[in-house]
Amino acid sequence: MTTLRTPAQLCEHGLAPPDRQPALAAVATRYAVAVPDALAQLIDRADPADPIARQIVPDPAELIHRPEELADPIGDDAHSPVDGIVHRYPDRVLLKLTHICAVYCRFCFRRETVGPGKPNALSTQALARALEYIRTHPEIWEVILTGGDPLVLSLRRLRSVMNALAHIDHVKIVRVHTRVPVADPKRITPALVRAMKIKGKPTYVAVHVNHSRELTMDARAACSRMADAGIPLLSQTVLLAGVNDTAEVMGELMRALVECRIKPYYLHHADLAPGTSHLRTEIAIGQQLVHNLRGRFSGLCQPTYVLDIPGGHGKSPIGSNYIERIESGGRTQFVVEDFNGRRHQYPPAATAESPSDRGRPPPLQALQSR
Ligand code: SF4
Repeated sequence: MTTLRTPAQLCEHGLAPPDRQPALAAVATRYAVAVPDALAQLIDRADPADPIARQIVPDPAELIHRPEELADPIGDDAHSPVDGIVHRYPDRVLLKLTHICAVYCRFCFRRETVGPGKPNALSTQALARALEYIRTHPEIWEVILTGGDPLVLSLRRLRSVMNALAHIDHVKIVRVHTRVPVADPKRITPALVRAMKIKGKPTYVAVHVNHSRELTMDARAACSRMADAGIPLLSQTVLLAGVNDTAEVMGELMRALVECRIKPYYLHHADLAPGTSHLRTEIAIGQQLVHNLRGRFSGLCQPTYVLDIPGGHGKSPIGSNYIERIESGGRTQFVVEDFNGRRHQYPPAATAESPSDRGRPPPLQALQSR
């Protein structure tokens, strides 16, 4: 695989105008750059707003840092008892195996810590301490391999980590978070798929995809190799301005994921990572988008829209609210909105004719559509 790693290479391959090279060099000094061939091929050089390029080709706007942006936007550090482990929720931990990725996304929430030369590569000794932490915490039911991207590791190292997890009885689930199936699909070989599997414990793979064009024939084949091997596939997508911030584009992506046997899982609101304000949307845009998705696309195509609360307080769903609680005449009732925006009383109002309606609440006042 050819990967473009410098502004000069990006200009040479038509991914940035030559007069931008000095500005991009300033960005590249601060944040890692890698544009793998599989994604570079998808970029329409004639489109200055190409949604693939917006995600992976550096932009001088990355040097604009806003006061609300944070080096550690989701507060990993606050929950890291030993190097490589983030233990935020009681029953699961992140195990950050590497700081290297196949592609460096311009919106990455770990952009201050991923990339060559960053100081937090997990040494063999640190990995042993991280595994020991998991071993001595029986409440850990699930281990989530992340990074960086765990699927850039050598087969030998991946096998050895999976083997260690296989021998920890209380760990029942291993989840791998990766962008490799779209960034370097040929890397998902049968041998790598075998290395991810543990006897008697399911491995789930969460594939990070932000636009349907990323699901090329090669990427689909890579996902098939995992699905055919019995690995359940989930998706994670980041809501990005100018990339996927309409219901049409998002719906098309969700359908493409389902067609690849990937169940849409999380739609992340973009985190407050430094230099990423040009890629972030308002939360209201995300809420309207998921509301529109609900009305127009199959239930299989519905991700949960979530926000990672800054400071390390975890994820919360922030999608549209369809139900309103109303206290009326000493009773609690609800008003539920349907996919057309019409509002309905629940339980429904009593009718005089039906004996089974005895005891039901009286009708609420007129229900207004929002
Ligand atoms: S692959 Fe994941 S960890 Fe790596 S740069 Fe992209 S978002 Fe960040």
